[in-house]
Amino acid sequence: MATLTDMHVATIPLVAPPGVSHLECGQCGAAYGDAEQPWRTSPCCAKPLLARYELAHLRGRFTPAALAGRAPTMWRYAEVLPVRDPAFRLTLGEGMTPLMESERLASDLGLDRLLLKDEGQNPTGSFKARGLAMAVARAWELGLDAVALPSAGNAGSAAAAYAAAAGLAAHVAVPRDTPRPILEEMRALGADVELVDGHIGDAAKSIAKGVEAHGWFDVSTLKEPYRLEGKKTMAYELVEALGRVPDVIIYPTGGGTGLVGMWKAFEEMEELGWIGGERPRMISVQGTGCAPIVRAWDRGDEAAQPWEDPKTYASGLRVPSAIGDFLVLEAIRASGGAAIAVSDDEMREAVRTIGRLTGVFAAPEGGATAAAVPRLLERELLRPDEEVVLFITGSGLKYL
Ligand SMILES: *Cc1c(COP(=O)(O)O)cnc(C)c1O
Repeated sequence: MATLTDMHVATIPLVAPPGVSHLECGQCGAAYGDAEQPWRTSPCCAKPLLARYELAHLRGRFTPAALAGRAPTMWRYAEVLPVRDPAFRLTLGEGMTPLMESERLASDLGLDRLLLKDEGQNPTGSFKARGLAMAVARAWELGLDAVALPSAGNAGSAAAAYAAAAGLAAHVAVPRDTPRPILEEMRALGADVELVDGHIGDAAKSIAKGVEAHGWFDVSTLKEPYRLEGKKTMAYELVEALGRVPDVIIYPTGGGTGLVGMWKAFEEMEELGWIGGERPRMISVQGTGCAPIVRAWDRGDEAAQPWEDPKTYASGLRVPSAIGDFLVLEAIRASGGAAIAVSDDEMREAVRTIGRLTGVFAAPEGGATAAAVPRLLERELLRPDEEVVLFITGSGLKYL
């Protein structure tokens, strides 16, 4: 098949055949055995399904050392990813983004040691590439021919890119005020783009109609199991690069796939023997104009209430209600982490600080992570001597 598959990964012998052993309901743990058909949410609870692998079988064989020589894309972790046939390992070069220490930004923010993971260098300029590469590849492998999703912007362009690479149709609904560069990008990538009045929740209603009427496969955040599997590779990369887990991860949370995916990856890596029981403290950052997770965390709730009238220029954080909210809150709590909100003005200022001190032009969501640091220190939710990783989830070029 003449397609954009990664020849290095495709030809490197894996230590075991890849593939999911079963899927598990994120709410009640019910298991579903037949992973070789398209799955959406769990039939029991209508909650996210989590992909499970034979990790005990991989332990001692699928090790960081086994990765040497594999191509620098997220497919280097193929043994713990759902795509079975190498011909469907769709790649545009996603993953293996730079992890950079910045002494100047650290000292400006009041920390001893600070690392940036620059996810803006992914195809389509954001870490959405990881999740959508995986979801589209898996949909393609399972024989589907059209994917659809509501998006705040970046997920739409990532879906458009990978659908184009695979030769599938992509239908995307986005808020009318989505940044122009993202709209242009999605159209150039051949997606069918619908502009919707309102926020991503309103876009979701429109996509649900298309899914119902035309049988498109819905790749909405956490409404199919595999975007999470792409996003979890961020944590595998961190551990592969550092040889251990960092003390703290600060992550800008919208739908929560990144945070939940990384949390799942740490569990997997413990079962694989890559790490022990230690975990980074997971800190979630949202905008003050849309902070359902922060509000729920402050109240000690297990799930979040929908946020009325969500407003923030960080479009990836304008998610008023997330189906995986309980998983995000569980990860924050279990890790001894926190959730905190910052304003759009603080994000804007932090984008300039990051830019000036590191050379990375961050998306506002990335700015939010740096903006959170002084506040976390002030509230003693973070100590200056902790090793902190900021996730710069996208490039600032998409928000002009
Ligand atoms: C989507 C998005 C987020 C939020 O990510 P989730 O994993 O859905 O919480 C953060 N930053 C950027 C740039 C995004 O596009």
